[in-house]
Amino acid sequence: MIIPSDEPVPARDRTRERLYYLIRSGAATSRSALVEATGLSRSTVNSAVTGLIRTGRVVEAGEEPKGVGSGSGRPATTLRAAPGEAIVGAIDFGHDRIAVALGDGTGQCIAEDSVDTDVDLRAHEAMDQACELLIGLAGTLGIGAPSAVAAGIPGPLDSRTGLVCSATILSSWVGLNPAEELSRRLGTAAHAENDALLGALGEQRLGAGRGHSNVFYIRATAGLGAGLILDGRLYRGATGIAGEIGHTAVPGGGGGEPCRCGRRGCLETVVSVGAVLQRIRHSHPGVAPDEITVSQPADAVTARIMAEVGATLGDALAMFCNLLNPSVLVLGGELGASGPSFVDSVRMSLLREAQPATGAGLDVVPAGLGVRAELVGALQAAAELVR
Ligand SMILES: [Zn+2]
Repeated sequence: MIIPSDEPVPARDRTRERLYYLIRSGAATSRSALVEATGLSRSTVNSAVTGLIRTGRVVEAGEEPKGVGSGSGRPATTLRAAPGEAIVGAIDFGHDRIAVALGDGTGQCIAEDSVDTDVDLRAHEAMDQACELLIGLAGTLGIGAPSAVAAGIPGPLDSRTGLVCSATILSSWVGLNPAEELSRRLGTAAHAENDALLGALGEQRLGAGRGHSNVFYIRATAGLGAGLILDGRLYRGATGIAGEIGHTAVPGGGGGEPCRCGRRGCLETVVSVGAVLQRIRHSHPGVAPDEITVSQPADAVTARIMAEVGATLGDALAMFCNLLNPSVLVLGGELGASGPSFVDSVRMSLLREAQPATGAGLDVVPAGLGVRAELVGALQAAAELVR
């Protein structure tokens, strides 16, 4: 189990969550029982329980009879989780990694976990693994299965049918209905969405897109996709595939590198983690390949590569920004989190190529939630399912 790393959870919050789950599961339903179950001091328990009651997550539900010989005095108040307080689950299927999270009924993250695996080529196994990871995480917390789950899929989903619909991008997933598959495995309500759209939602609710109604989110990771929020609403397009920008042509051709979609010169052949790592490794022959990452480098050669890749993306995004007039462009995924060489270069290139009026009203920023934006967005979507 991993507590979100770039959003440290204070010790008092962990204590509060631990107490909440003891109350919710019925394992300890009075302040005295919580003290006994946890070994925490009475004042710590009182303080955390007061906070849970104040925020409406726990209610005092009458009085718990005291046992024979337990002495006189006021009977203990019974504590219960507030009605409607739910646990929700989130799954982020990356191309080569699965991340899962559990959250409360508001979508606030409680805990998360991840595993590296081949998602693209083994759809059913990936869904099995994701469900096992999620149930395992719930087991670690001592709670049941979540009431609802939302999952991000790294490819286009037909919004009319719920089916994955691109044979060229996510071949083993084509024709599958991820929401139905996950619902059947978990026995709960499930919703599937394009991963970048969930990233946009996460950033708008809790990240760098807060306060913006027109958000252009880019997930630059093993693949390249975009998520759009226009006039405050998630935008999926006519059939659900809006934002599939990874397989548009690089301005100027990009060297015509072959792409997994069968074409040459797609944006993703330049702006993706695999393509970037290949270039960095080529320029660092003395460094072990597994020591090379896209994170902000200490050396000038890597910084130059990241800047060039950023410029390619900025050039390509300029026309989309002219078309859509977003107020914020949020750069997510590993490349978005790689540091200023990439982000500054996207900004400079985009502002140079876009109409001046488009650029004047546009912030270009890295994702506030880093590579967790999709998972956080999935928790928000799952919480809406419950509501
Ligand atoms: Zn392509």
